[in-house]
Amino acid sequence: MKMKLKVRTGDTVKVISGKDKDKKGKILSSDPKSGKIIVEGINMATKHKKPRKAGEVGGIIHQEAAIYAAKVMLVCPKCGASTRVGRKVLPDGEIVRYCKKCNENL
Ligand SMILES: [Zn+2]
Repeated sequence: MKMKLKVRTGDTVKVISGKDKDKKGKILSSDPKSGKIIVEGINMATKHKKPRKAGEVGGIIHQEAAIYAAKVMLVCPKCGASTRVGRKVLPDGEIVRYCKKCNENL
């Protein structure tokens, strides 16, 4: 089932649970199918990379692993608070998101 994510790529979010609680980062990518997102600097996973091709260097790389979108809250770019996102329909039919703290459109 496709889930509607409250947040989207490029949003700054704050983690509300897990080992990266209270950290903030920018969403690098989102996957509505799994309900997961990848956030810059959050949930870093260590991968051991083996050289597979000639000339390739092996080593340890750090990479963000996906987390559930439900584990984050949007940080409002207008008021800076971690907030819940509301949606409203403008008179011309366009749907906009807005901050429930300061009521600014996002
Ligand atoms: Zn706000």
